[in-house]
Amino acid sequence: MNKRITFCSIYFFLSVLPTVSVFAQTKTVTDEDALYIRQIHDVALNQGRCYPWLYHLTKKIGARLSGSPQAAAAVEYSYQMLDTLGLDSVWLQPCMVPHWVRGDREIVRIAQSDMGSVELRALALGNSVGTGEAGIAAEVVAVMGIDELEKLGEAKLKGKIVFFNRPFDATKLNTFEAYGGAVDQRAYGASEAAKYGAVGVLVRSMASGLNDDPHTGGLLYKEGLPKIPACAISTNDAELLGRLLKKSPVKVYMRTTCQTLSDKPSFNVIGEIRGSERPDEIIVVGGHLDSWDVGEGAHDDGTGCVQSMDVLHIFKRLNYQPKRTIRCVLFMNEENGLRGGMTYADEAKRKGERHLAAIESDRGGFVPRGFTVDGEAAVFTEKFPAMQPWHAVLEPYGLHIKKGGGGADISPLKPQGVLLIGFEPDSQRYFDFHHTEVDNFEAVNRRELELGTAAMTSLIYLMDKYGLD
Ligand SMILES: [Zn+2]
Repeated sequence: MNKRITFCSIYFFLSVLPTVSVFAQTKTVTDEDALYIRQIHDVALNQGRCYPWLYHLTKKIGARLSGSPQAAAAVEYSYQMLDTLGLDSVWLQPCMVPHWVRGDREIVRIAQSDMGSVELRALALGNSVGTGEAGIAAEVVAVMGIDELEKLGEAKLKGKIVFFNRPFDATKLNTFEAYGGAVDQRAYGASEAAKYGAVGVLVRSMASGLNDDPHTGGLLYKEGLPKIPACAISTNDAELLGRLLKKSPVKVYMRTTCQTLSDKPSFNVIGEIRGSERPDEIIVVGGHLDSWDVGEGAHDDGTGCVQSMDVLHIFKRLNYQPKRTIRCVLFMNEENGLRGGMTYADEAKRKGERHLAAIESDRGGFVPRGFTVDGEAAVFTEKFPAMQPWHAVLEPYGLHIKKGGGGADISPLKPQGVLLIGFEPDSQRYFDFHHTEVDNFEAVNRRELELGTAAMTSLIYLMDKYGLD
């Protein structure tokens, strides 16, 4: 094993050395940094723990919706694992979380159409109310977006099921942009349709392509409007329903028994290596421990959690003593409430903690491309330039640093002047898996996952060493 590391190190170091030398005149990064980042990669690829941890989280525990026994098991497991690493402290931070349950398997069926009766592959949207035991049956009205509802008005929508069928814009190179351009239908469609007397909502799944997997995800009800039930249907079924509606009226029967129970106690899981010179400057790295209740929550966000845990493990393996405190936070309840992220930021403020930066991995465990950086305008302007010289030692690994989003769980830290950084893996396949039955362990490639861990560890090493001034 050691022999292999040495051989890889020399080979790779020689291959990247010329690149580094070109940038050696920059004030900060050195050949020593290039060598250290190579060592980080060697440990991540040879001795990383993220993959076996992910196996346990996905295969042994499984889907981990907030408030579920599996979410509690994930808290216990990740606490235990962090506690094996010889960290300076590991603790649980309590937070109350919403407790939504799916209930019986959803029935969404075209009851009356040119094709007769057809079952559609559907999942109730998270936070949705149920239809009641008897279900509902109504004629369907298709729209391509919320803006069409006003034109149709109560005359066309009252008593109907509204079907939101706007697909992802396939021309967007980053699939998160396409998601951002379509997800208002899932998030707000139910309340917007309820304004005009609709009785239910169907939403085309938030997916990049055509397939049979329905994608769940949260909806938000607006205060003061009736809560009507909503389901996502697979993109293939959305195409079918759209085609049938162009020919003649279609009636759909839907039955869901989902409901929201009372809040439950849960936790963020936290572990840290305390800084030797500036222990009060904290660098957070994290993902979210909860997932939706279908599939195994692998890419969303088991991978982000195990990568963040492995960052601390790699530093311990390398006997690296950070100057600043490096803290891994596994946030609870990103998917349907963000209670963990809000609790963490509130507590940080209450204790007067000073966070230099927070890094979140919540875009899947795919091959790393770099990092996107966000912050309050003044913070971003001051700190972002300090990261630019780091390109010299990150580019050999194909990693960029550019302006962009941080992450949902760390977003409540933004007003505290924290620089927010989103780990950015390749985005092309994420929305094949996101919030589906197929977001399982098998969907994650070990090497891609470990390279992501190495990328995150490398960035944190540079930040710890040089700060952001
Ligand atoms: Zn996520």
